[in-house]
Amino acid sequence: DVRWHHLLAPHIAERPDAPALADDGGAAWDYGALDTACDAARDLLLDHGVRPGDRVMLLAENSATAVAFMFAASRVGATVIPVNARQTEFEVARLLAHADPAVVVATSAASGEAAAHADRLGATPERGAYGDVHLLARPGTRPDDDPDVAVLLYTTGTTGMPKGVMLTHANMVYAGRAARGYRGLAPGHLVYGVAPMAHVIGLASMMTATMCSGATARLEARFSVERLYAALKEGVTHLPAVPQMHALLMQHVQAHGHATLDSAHLAYVSSGGAPLDPAWKRKAEAFYRLPLQNGYGMTETTAAASITANRLGDPDVSVGPPLDGVEIRIDDTVPGGGDGQGEVLIRGPNVMKGYYRNPEDTAAVLSADGWLRSGDLGRIDEQGRLHILGRSKELIIHGGFNVYPPEVEAALNDHPQVIQSAVIGHVQDGDEKVLAFVQAAPDDLPDPDDLRAFVAERLTGYKRPSRIIIATSLPAAATGKILKHKLLDHFADDLA
Ligand code: ATP
Ligand code: MG
Repeated sequence: DVRWHHLLAPHIAERPDAPALADDGGAAWDYGALDTACDAARDLLLDHGVRPGDRVMLLAENSATAVAFMFAASRVGATVIPVNARQTEFEVARLLAHADPAVVVATSAASGEAAAHADRLGATPERGAYGDVHLLARPGTRPDDDPDVAVLLYTTGTTGMPKGVMLTHANMVYAGRAARGYRGLAPGHLVYGVAPMAHVIGLASMMTATMCSGATARLEARFSVERLYAALKEGVTHLPAVPQMHALLMQHVQAHGHATLDSAHLAYVSSGGAPLDPAWKRKAEAFYRLPLQNGYGMTETTAAASITANRLGDPDVSVGPPLDGVEIRIDDTVPGGGDGQGEVLIRGPNVMKGYYRNPEDTAAVLSADGWLRSGDLGRIDEQGRLHILGRSKELIIHGGFNVYPPEVEAALNDHPQVIQSAVIGHVQDGDEKVLAFVQAAPDDLPDPDDLRAFVAERLTGYKRPSRIIIATSLPAAATGKILKHKLLDHFADDLA
C-alpha cells in the first residue's frame, strides 16, 4: 500500500542534502528541507482540523511551497485539489462549489494571482518552513471516507466544462515511476518544470517523476521562451513540455537565427497533452539535436498511457506503444470508425477511479472491467504503436467526408508566419464547415490569400478551411493548450 508521499522517503533518508526543488521565487530546497516543509505544512493542515478523506484545495502556480502542500495533504490522508491560480474568480468559485474542500490554501507569496484569490476569499496569512501562504478553513464540509484518492484534478476543459478526475495513490505512484523509467531519470538530473502542476503533465510526469527519482525540479510559474532558452543552456537535462511550448521556442529560435542548441547537458525532450505537429517535431529535433518523444495521455490516465522511444531522425509520427502494464485497444464500431480505426480504449494502473460526484459521466467512460473510453480516434500500426487522429467530438463531417482537425492544423502550422492554429467544425446551412483560427505575430501577419493558396497545395478540397481567422492570440489554458470550445464566442465579432 504505497502512498504518493512515500515516493520521497528513500531520497529524504539517503540523500537529504541533494537538491530537490528550485523555483523562480528563489526557493532552493534539498530533500531534507522538502521533508521539513512537508511536515510543517502537514501540521498546519492538522491544526485547522483537516482529517483523512478531507479535500484540500491548493490555489497555486508552480513553486516549492505548492509541492510541500501536495505531499502534506498526502501525509494527512487528505485529497489535494491542485488549481491553477491563473483561473478566474468565476472559475475558482465553480470548482469550490463542486469540490467543497475543507480548507483552501493559496500560495500567496509565490503567486500574485493566488494572493488575489486569497484576498477575495478572506483567507488568513500563515508562515512556516513551507513559506508564506493564506489559508481559509471552511467548516461543515464532509470528508469523503475514501482513503484511496490522492488527487482530485480537473481536466483542461478543451471540449466543455472541466471534469474532476479522481486519481488514487496507486495512480500517482504508478505514473511517477513509469515516467522515471521512460525518461531515465536519476539523482543529478535537472528537470525543467514549466508544465503547470495543476495539470496532469506537470503534476504526474514532471513533478512526481522527478521527486521519485531523487532528481531536481526547476519550477517555473510562467512560461517564458527567453527563460526556457536560457535554462536550456545552463544545465537542464530534461524538458517535458506541451507542443505549444516547443512551437514557441522554435519560433523564437528562428527569429534569432540560432540553428541548434549548444548544450552539453540536455538529454531528454518530450511533448504531450496535445497533437504534435510533424513539422514542429522535425524543427525541434534539429534544434535540440535530440529525438522529441511524443507521449499520449489524459488527466483520466494520470498523464501518459503511451510514449515513443525514438532515436534521432526516426520519422515516427505515432505516440508510441503503451506503457508497461497498460493495455490499449481500438473500438472501430464507433461513428467515424471502421477497418481498425476507431475510439482508443485504455486499461491499466494509470486509469482514474472516476469523475468526482459524477456517476453518470463516470459510467459513460469507464466499463465494469476497467476499460476507459478516451474520446480520441486512433489506430494501432504493425509495430504496436498508437496513432492519434483527433478527438471524436472534434471530427468534422464536411460534405460527407471525415476531416481530422490535427491534419488541417498541421498544414496551416507549416506556413512560416503561422505560430499555431486551431481548427473546428461549425454547422452552417446544414453542413459542417471547416473553420480555422490562426495565431501570428502582430508585426508579421500572413496575407490571407497567400495562406489560402499555401493550404490548397497541401490539402484536398474538402479539407480546406472555408474560413481562416487570423489573430494575435487564441484562448488558451495555462498549459498553452488551446480551448477550442471558447473559439466561437471569443471570435464572435469576426465571424458575424
Ligand atoms: P476536457 O476533457 O475537459 O475537454 P482535455 O481532454 O483537453 O479537456 P486533458 O486531459 O488535459 O484535457 O487532455 C487530454 C487530451 O489531449 C486527450 O484526450 C487527447 O485528445 C489530447 N492529447 C494528449 N496527448 C496527445 C498527443 N500526444 N497527441 C494527440 N492528442 C493528444
Ligand atoms: Mg478530455
